[in-house]
Amino acid sequence: MKPSVFDYFVPTSVTDAISLLVEHCGEAKLLAGGQSLVPMLNFRVLNPQALIDINRISELDFVSEGEESIRVGALTRHRVIETSPLIAKHFPILPAVMKHVAHLAIRNRGTIGGSFAHADPAAELALMGRLLGAKILTRSPSGERSIEASDFFVSAMTTVLEEAELLCEVEFPYLPENTFWGFEEFSLRSGDVAIAAAAVTVTLSDGRCEQCRIAVIGGETAIRIPQAEGLLNGNKLSQDAIAAAAKTAGEAAPWNVDQHASSELRHQLVEVLTQRALVKAWQRSEGQS
Ligand SMILES: Cc1cc2nc3c(=O)[nH]c(=O)nc-3n(C[C@H](O)[C@H](O)[C@H](O)COP(=O)(O)OP(=O)(O)OC[C@H]3O[C@@H](n4cnc5c(N)ncnc54)[C@H](O)[C@@H]3O)c2cc1C
Repeated sequence: MKPSVFDYFVPTSVTDAISLLVEHCGEAKLLAGGQSLVPMLNFRVLNPQALIDINRISELDFVSEGEESIRVGALTRHRVIETSPLIAKHFPILPAVMKHVAHLAIRNRGTIGGSFAHADPAAELALMGRLLGAKILTRSPSGERSIEASDFFVSAMTTVLEEAELLCEVEFPYLPENTFWGFEEFSLRSGDVAIAAAAVTVTLSDGRCEQCRIAVIGGETAIRIPQAEGLLNGNKLSQDAIAAAAKTAGEAAPWNVDQHASSELRHQLVEVLTQRALVKAWQRSEGQS
């Protein structure tokens, strides 16, 4: 199918893009990489009166290294996140995870802002946002907002973004020293969307787990699982402790049911993937991975 007729605008600044959003009062859509939006237009799931193409807003296209965090502009392509030496230096988990996002052609176009705003329950970048405690910076006619990832994603395809609000950047605070990571995903074929995934970081001090983070894909939106993290915090890592945390993770939520998997299958996948991810992080801490 072809999309309905729409007006097309190409602003070159955030201010102009926001003015256009205001002018069209909820009847316009922002176009970033187009990898999710264009299929929805073609299938006429969405019929906006106007498309506001933000690809020429150069102020949204950057990766910068600050004192306490890395800031990634909304227009940064998935492929840049996958290949940026700066990102790899501070967050080696990100390039590894990005390889699971669709296929290269899609990663060349898709953007971090588009992925966060689209809020697909299986999106790996949303998972990273939750795991790494990202902050989302936005602008609208009411001003700027900094939103914790934990508050940003509401449910499947739903965020707290308002009608005339533009996602400008995502900020990833640095992890403490001695932090190790693991990531495991299950999909039907390479490049397919995740049926479930688990991402963890483990910060060690004197051989004990000072802080563990566990985030998973499998429900309405990516979530952290504090009750599983609590079983490891303050303790030495062991096969038994990891198995107990993984079991708790599997039981943590009513997982999605769809054409790919039942809730019970996702429950089992979350448990197994969390266990594997924690073991990988542990192996990395011992220089084995
Ligand atoms: C075949 C296929 C497989 C895919 N597989 C995966 C996968 O495995 N994992 C995964 O995570 N993703 C996957 N995707 C989605 C892909 O990562 C998209 O690029 C991403 O979801 C949307 O990013 P985009 O830049 O293309 O956004 P667009 O499609 O341009 O926009 C998506 C939505 O976000 C809004 N938007 C865009 N930018 C902003 C902004 N700065 N501020 C506010 N709103 C904004 C748009 O208005 C629109 O509603 C897949 C896509 C395809 C086509």
